[in-house]
Amino acid sequence: MSAAVHLRQAGFAGSIALLGEENELPYERPPLSKDYLAGARERESFRFRPAAFWAEKGIALIAGERVVAVDPAAHEVLCASGRPITYGDLVWCAGGRARRLSGAHAIRTLSDVDRLKEQLESASRVLVIGGGWIGLEAAAALTKLGKSVTLSEREPRLLARCSGRALSDFLKDEHERHGVEVFVGSPSPDPAGFDLIIAGIGIEPETVPLLEAGAEGGDGVLVDELGRTSLPHVWAAGDVALHRNRFGPDRPIRIESVQHATDHAATVARAIAGAPKSYGAMPWFWSNQYALKLQTVGLSHDHDEELVRGDPASGSFSVLYRRQGKVIALDCVNMVRDYVQGRLLIERDTVVAAKVLTDPGRPLKSLVE
Ligand SMILES: Cc1cc2nc3c(=O)[nH]c(=O)nc-3n(C[C@H](O)[C@H](O)[C@H](O)COP(=O)(O)OP(=O)(O)OC[C@H]3O[C@@H](n4cnc5c(N)ncnc54)[C@H](O)[C@@H]3O)c2cc1C
Repeated sequence: MSAAVHLRQAGFAGSIALLGEENELPYERPPLSKDYLAGARERESFRFRPAAFWAEKGIALIAGERVVAVDPAAHEVLCASGRPITYGDLVWCAGGRARRLSGAHAIRTLSDVDRLKEQLESASRVLVIGGGWIGLEAAAALTKLGKSVTLSEREPRLLARCSGRALSDFLKDEHERHGVEVFVGSPSPDPAGFDLIIAGIGIEPETVPLLEAGAEGGDGVLVDELGRTSLPHVWAAGDVALHRNRFGPDRPIRIESVQHATDHAATVARAIAGAPKSYGAMPWFWSNQYALKLQTVGLSHDHDEELVRGDPASGSFSVLYRRQGKVIALDCVNMVRDYVQGRLLIERDTVVAAKVLTDPGRPLKSLVE
């Protein structure tokens, strides 16, 4: 949806159709595992835009259609319903599908959460499988609802895929303090003892129609710095796009965040509208759990050092990740100031002694060269 909006903003005057499998007006996903699951937000409150907006912008919404094949030579996609749709340029922002476990609910779409909520009222003991962001947010939301929550992560620590040990340990303590029973590594709890099971175990990027059409990729569709795939007039952005990120490691990666989906789509839109500019946005991400505001800036892949700034026991601290002495990312817990100022350290490839970086009395902006 961001690509469509940014196309108009960039002055694209041709016809735009926004095609999606879900039978919904476009909406934001972050509330699904937070306030919406906790019953603190209404269904209609996180629509991306009201229906009238799309009509005003001349963007046709085609909902409930799933693309199953792409024919780049014919400039045509084929939907599961049998409907063919032709295009001049195709922007593939198909995200990913939640990995599913039989007998467990997933939290990826609005209808996933609506189904889950129907069964939630009668459930008292809930098992959350997966200690990544979505599993942790779901555990916090369900605890708020008074459920007895057990969380099981197969790795030896929470958030093992995307954060360092200090944040993992802090979050484990924090969830346990709120009454969540947390299992990491093995053994995992017996699912038989639970009324409801939720799996937050990641996504599989929605690549098949493009890869079958010959696009390069694997765990994502490979794109260049403008979001071009290897197929002519076919672009990709967001969760599905395997790209080289200026702030990331020296290999193509996928990023699953609202910031990336929005900024990457804007890059593609500008290129289609005739004003190309390579993708170079600073990655950032947020999560809310209990009274915690967690903010991440930069990408911590392949960090070789993790520094803690401030005292985790105070509930307000930051973790700085370095690679070869340079600050590459920060995880900030109730520490907005570090989050805002830390991005400068990343942008400028700042090298500062560890004892200076970890001194909470020294504002990070004062360390920028
Ligand atoms: C529960 C939850 C909480 C989150 N919380 C945060 C957060 O706090 N902060 C943050 O930064 N990020 C968060 N994210 C991640 C963020 O929402 C995603 O990174 C973002 O939605 C990715 O956008 P996208 O457009 O790439 O993909 P998606 O949002 O997945 O959109 C892809 C769309 O394409 C449709 N589609 C897929 N395949 C096809 C097909 N073959 N044919 C037609 N349509 C198709 C899908 O139905 C979907 O509507 C969260 C995600 C979830 C699920």
